Amino acid sequence: MLNYQNILLTIDFSGHDLFVAQKAQALAEQFHATLHILHVLDNIPMPDTPYGTVIPLSEDSAYELLENEKNKLVQISDQLNIAPSRRWLIWGEPQQEITQLAIQQQIDLIIVGSHDRHGLAVLMGSTAKDVLYHAECDVLAVHIKKPG
Ligand code: AMP
Repeated sequence: MLNYQNILLTIDFSGHDLFVAQKAQALAEQFHATLHILHVLDNIPMPDTPYGTVIPLSEDSAYELLENEKNKLVQISDQLNIAPSRRWLIWGEPQQEITQLAIQQQIDLIIVGSHDRHGLAVLMGSTAKDVLYHAECDVLAVHIKKPG
């Protein structure tokens, strides 16, 4: 692949998203590629599904959380000029949803953030690493520097 046509920016709203997003936008411009954006909801229990209901939430507070995530996605997508049809908010397990959407949308480059891990985080593993291992296309890990 000499030229990327469809780039997928993945964001987890960790506070470093803008830095990673700006790199994604610059690359998309450079390659004249279409930029998609994805956030996977893995912290909001959804009713009638077999997946993750670890933290019990009332429907109201789950709805509030969902609206909050939606607003954050809209805000960053607006900043990056990403069309609504290329904004993805999907419920599930991040690595699986990222790699599946990449196949569905014929993504040729996935962009993830990557930062140093310490303590328990090392044991829990990294979405970035899992995506790199499972993706069928190229993956760019943008190194997120610690402040200071
Ligand atoms: P992690 O390895 O879990 O610290 O996450 C590193 C990167 O993986 C983030 O900067 C995002 O690019 C991506 N990522 C992690 N969780 C999610 C999520 N829930 N939705 C979309 N992307 C995610």
